[in-house]
Amino acid sequence: MKPEFILAIEGANKTFEGFRAIRDLHFYMDRGELRTIIGPNGAGKTTLLDLITGRSKPDSGRIEFEKDTDLTRLNEYQINRLGVGRKFQTPSVYTDHTVFENILLSLQDNRGVFAALFSRITPAQRDQIRGILATVGLADKADWIAGNLAHGQKQWLEIGMLLAQNPKLLLVDEPTAGMTDEETARTGELLMSLVPKHSVVVIEHDMTFVRQIARKVTVLHEGSVLCEGTVDQVQNDERVIEVYLGRKKKGDGA
Ligand code: ADP
Ligand code: MG
Repeated sequence: MKPEFILAIEGANKTFEGFRAIRDLHFYMDRGELRTIIGPNGAGKTTLLDLITGRSKPDSGRIEFEKDTDLTRLNEYQINRLGVGRKFQTPSVYTDHTVFENILLSLQDNRGVFAALFSRITPAQRDQIRGILATVGLADKADWIAGNLAHGQKQWLEIGMLLAQNPKLLLVDEPTAGMTDEETARTGELLMSLVPKHSVVVIEHDMTFVRQIARKVTVLHEGSVLCEGTVDQVQNDERVIEVYLGRKKKGDGA
């Protein structure tokens, strides 16, 4: 039996002023997967996330979410409400509020900033927020003003804010940029802990990090999937060595 997929992209194309950023892209992901996408600068990785989240529309092709929802017909807000969360590279937390309040403000059923902050928090909400803070490793920072967190901690808080919306699919673009080695390793642990409850796509450059978290890796090149496999498989793939690492393998006569 075919595993249930969370995302299926078939023949997607996206052109910017004549430049084909995404070309005939096919991409399939099972529910509960942690998928890593790598590829050189300009390969179309961020554009791919834009197409999935409805930030921009493909010129052609289908982007199917779960059983049969065609995301290309929906806007960014509708796609988010369906359960697609996205973490951008720069963290956007409410810097004047506490860590706890940041999660509270992001809860799925929140009734607006003021209502959320001034109405009573139910015990269930408090438990949910504490659970999320434990997941992202900020349980002991609940009362900190978010603006005072270290860079890595802000990134984790933002992942927590996304989790508060209970996304089915979480898209994370270069989460470890600017992080220390220790923060990077902890981010890997965090992302791995999210599956299989959530399906997760991680775009990343840092191959040490990719090796830490990756099960299946998709290599994007010039807007198409060049190859897929384990880290070892893609790192030893001749085409990947040529285009991604930008050099030929020793001893191939070239
Ligand atoms: P990656 O994230 O893999 O580095 P991007 O998806 O950001 O690559 O970009 C892929 C290509 O599409 C790049 O050449 C980029 O310049 C181009 N591109 C992306 N967005 C736009 C846009 N809004 N307008 C014009 N060109 C764009
Ligand atoms: Mg990018």
